[in-house]
Amino acid sequence: MTTKPKAAGLSAAEKAGLLRRLSDRRAVGDRSAPKAHIAAASMLEELNSIAEYEQLRLVRAAGDMLGISNPYFRVHDGIAGPETSIGGQSFINFSSYNYLGLNGHPEVSAAAKAAIDRYGTSVSASRLVSGEREIHRELERRLAAVHGAEDCVSFVSGHATNVTVIGHLLDKGDLILHDALSHNSAVQGAQLSGAHRVSFPHNDAGAAKRLLAEHRRRHRRVLVVIEGHYSMDGDIPDLPAFTEIVRQEQAWLLVDEAHSLGVLGRRGHGLAEHFGMGPDAADLWMGTLSKTLAGCGGYIAGRKELIEYLKLSAPGFVYSVGMSPPVAAAAIAALDIMAREPERVGRLQAMSRLFLEKAKQAGLDTGSSEGFGIVPIITGSSIAAARLSDALFKRGINVQPILYPAVPEQAARLRFFLSCEHTPGQIEAAVGFLAEESARLQGQSLDLAALAGRLKS
Ligand code: PMP
Repeated sequence: MTTKPKAAGLSAAEKAGLLRRLSDRRAVGDRSAPKAHIAAASMLEELNSIAEYEQLRLVRAAGDMLGISNPYFRVHDGIAGPETSIGGQSFINFSSYNYLGLNGHPEVSAAAKAAIDRYGTSVSASRLVSGEREIHRELERRLAAVHGAEDCVSFVSGHATNVTVIGHLLDKGDLILHDALSHNSAVQGAQLSGAHRVSFPHNDAGAAKRLLAEHRRRHRRVLVVIEGHYSMDGDIPDLPAFTEIVRQEQAWLLVDEAHSLGVLGRRGHGLAEHFGMGPDAADLWMGTLSKTLAGCGGYIAGRKELIEYLKLSAPGFVYSVGMSPPVAAAAIAALDIMAREPERVGRLQAMSRLFLEKAKQAGLDTGSSEGFGIVPIITGSSIAAARLSDALFKRGINVQPILYPAVPEQAARLRFFLSCEHTPGQIEAAVGFLAEESARLQGQSLDLAALAGRLKS
């Protein structure tokens, strides 16, 4: 099982003390509050007793205390491409997964507008009952073709795709074996299914094989879940090894291609193309429309019987509205451009390699990134990551920090998403500032435990 990272080096008493000092205590526990407010106050008390919420407040309060501007919910003024405008100011942008620069592409936007003119903005029903439109079928045929699969089914959310499909296909008595760094949506799906859930160390096919051999006999169906390209680390799994393991043990393999579609392979067809493998390398090819395809939603491509079964019974499909027409049309137009201009994929890969090389030359810790579109810069503490992101923001670079509890405290990082539209000049400028600001922060970077100590003194 994946274990949640525990407190960031603080004892329970230290944490409580720090929160007491840092947080606003007016709202909670004010017994003189008028009666009408008692219910609301008790709900607040309940919320405040949730350990994860306490951790989040701790990190935010520490950020406030250190004068670090909140990096979340920043409002962009328009299209977030290689550059973006936030509050009227221009930034080089590394925070959007617009890998092939197709969000805002005139052809993609025109297709979405034409779909609105024809179908409106909603299909106003589940597809099963009366929400089916030709545009849905077209999108699914095109996605199936990308994966060389027989058929495909699309869903209104990428996250919901994993939750509902994994949650629906597996059951009590089954086994789900997943990478320790699997996306939250796959873990939630596994939990929903009621199947026995086991994680294997990140990208360790040997460990997956051992665990499968150990557990297989006790379970009926077995699903192994991997990602085509890991979104926090920018590394990829050994697909041939995983394919062999599942074939030996008669298990199913699901590959989540959220960050590999448009990114891996010469044409951007994903992990199988990267390894020169065919569609049979996995049983379920899952993907999202929210990255390369400039839309929002998710899909599963695979055998026609699997797709038929999901279309007739997966709750997130049957009981949810069909995809909004402009979103489906945008994704189809994005697939057209991807097919016509594979050089976009080549440019994305070249820009990502350049970023990775420059960062390594500057002595920065890029973890296990393989330079295909995602490069983390590991800072080793949440406060260091937040400070570095803040310092870069002040110099015109927009990049998100990934803080505890999204990753373990010592693995806190900045995460750079590259696009085929970034220029070498933008990458050199960004890595230059990154190196300068990291050097400036050396020795100053406080961890949460040090901050607690400082507050006590
Ligand atoms: N799978 C992976 C690997 C992801 O990174 C994400 C989110 N970025 C999702 C699924 C969910 O996709 P969406 O954001 O399109 O709902």
